[in-house]
Amino acid sequence: MQLYSTKNRDIQVDLKQAVFQGLPEDNGLFMPNDIPRLPQSILDNLSHLSFSEIGFHISKTLFQGAIPDQDLKEIIDKAINFPAPIVQLDDQKYILELFHGPSLAFKDFGARFMAQLMSYFNRGEDQELTILVATSGDTGGAVAAGFHKTPGIRVVILYPSGKVSALQEKQLTTLGHNITALEVDGTFDDCQALVKQAFLDQELRSKTRISSANSINISRLVPQSFYYFEAYKQVQKTTEDIVFCIPSGNFGNLTAGLLAYKMGLPVHQFIAATNRNDVVPSYLQDGDYQPRPSIRTLSNAMDVGNPSNFARMVDIFSAAKGKGIPSDQGIWEGMNKLISGFSFNDQETEQAVKYIFDTYNYLIDPHGAVGYLALDAYQKQHPNTKGIVLETAHPAKFKEDMDRVIGKEIPVPERLLALSDRVKEATSMSIDYTSFRTWLIENL
Ligand SMILES: *Cc1c(COP(=O)(O)O)cnc(C)c1O
Repeated sequence: MQLYSTKNRDIQVDLKQAVFQGLPEDNGLFMPNDIPRLPQSILDNLSHLSFSEIGFHISKTLFQGAIPDQDLKEIIDKAINFPAPIVQLDDQKYILELFHGPSLAFKDFGARFMAQLMSYFNRGEDQELTILVATSGDTGGAVAAGFHKTPGIRVVILYPSGKVSALQEKQLTTLGHNITALEVDGTFDDCQALVKQAFLDQELRSKTRISSANSINISRLVPQSFYYFEAYKQVQKTTEDIVFCIPSGNFGNLTAGLLAYKMGLPVHQFIAATNRNDVVPSYLQDGDYQPRPSIRTLSNAMDVGNPSNFARMVDIFSAAKGKGIPSDQGIWEGMNKLISGFSFNDQETEQAVKYIFDTYNYLIDPHGAVGYLALDAYQKQHPNTKGIVLETAHPAKFKEDMDRVIGKEIPVPERLLALSDRVKEATSMSIDYTSFRTWLIENL
């Protein structure tokens, strides 16, 4: 399997390099040279395949021999070891629950798969590999859980002191073993700046093996395509068109849906649901892409003003046109045919959380609620469709807001309750690069 940079197709790397490097040097994003269709026999027989078998066939088709079958099976069995069940709300609306992993958000799929791939490609190296991650909360928890106890790999997480939720902090600081948390006396941007400086520090890099686990790594995208097929499998006995509605921030999840579509998933339409950070829905309206600073909302994992995967979406619709470079107009038209965009504010989101609880007795988190609203708006114009909303996080992750909106305490799953008894272990760190560097040299 070969991948190119979205900024320059002549930059070509193999899967291993794309996984370890994360980003091409020209700051583009890695994309596979080919996105082949799944064999027809697989598409026809989805209902007889388990979730992990589906994942195996997708990665085998995409990776084209980069990893032998038996090893690939093991990677998937370890990474995808929790379900993605469908819950039916009514005749037209379904919820795909993506929060059954260790950090209770869909990012577990990407983080766990990336951890297994890195561990696989890292075999035979004598020197330990250290993953540096800066987190504003959610990603760090998924990455920590994904790499926990992975042989040969250590994870150092930098998080801004006092700026993550109590629950997120527990997820970052209580695992131990190969996971170390650094509590930085600064903001998320300061954490990110420290990590960037370490990567630019050639002398440090000659002494240590460091890599990143950022969200635009191609290995985080691939497993997210698995659950689109898994969802389709669970509702496919239908004559109506299937639409997927994706609560979006950086648009990795939606891009993974496009990957699934290119591999043969019969999707009628994708719906991009955003909060007031509506750069993509407004681009779909008028063809003008205008990134801007993000606004804080209730669905804060979607507070993104310049979605990092937009370049991949553009690339997919450029490729779709075939020969030559399509005009911006062509890309916009192609995207508009397949993706509808909607955005909602916090007040509408809260009303939806309450409405879904009162009507269906279903607890949906604020991100999923934005998705529900978008699907509902779409289906008012397209009544003969079946819609699947991706529920990206467990509602208990947002307990305070949920309790307030619902008007009573919502239940918390056992594995979250257990976290509160665990003891935080974190090393304090200033925003000064020299002290971070000294710590790395002494501890790696
Ligand atoms: C990260 C995240 C999103 C946004 O996903 P993207 O792939 O960045 O669009 C939505 N909901 C939750 C709960 C998330 O953690």
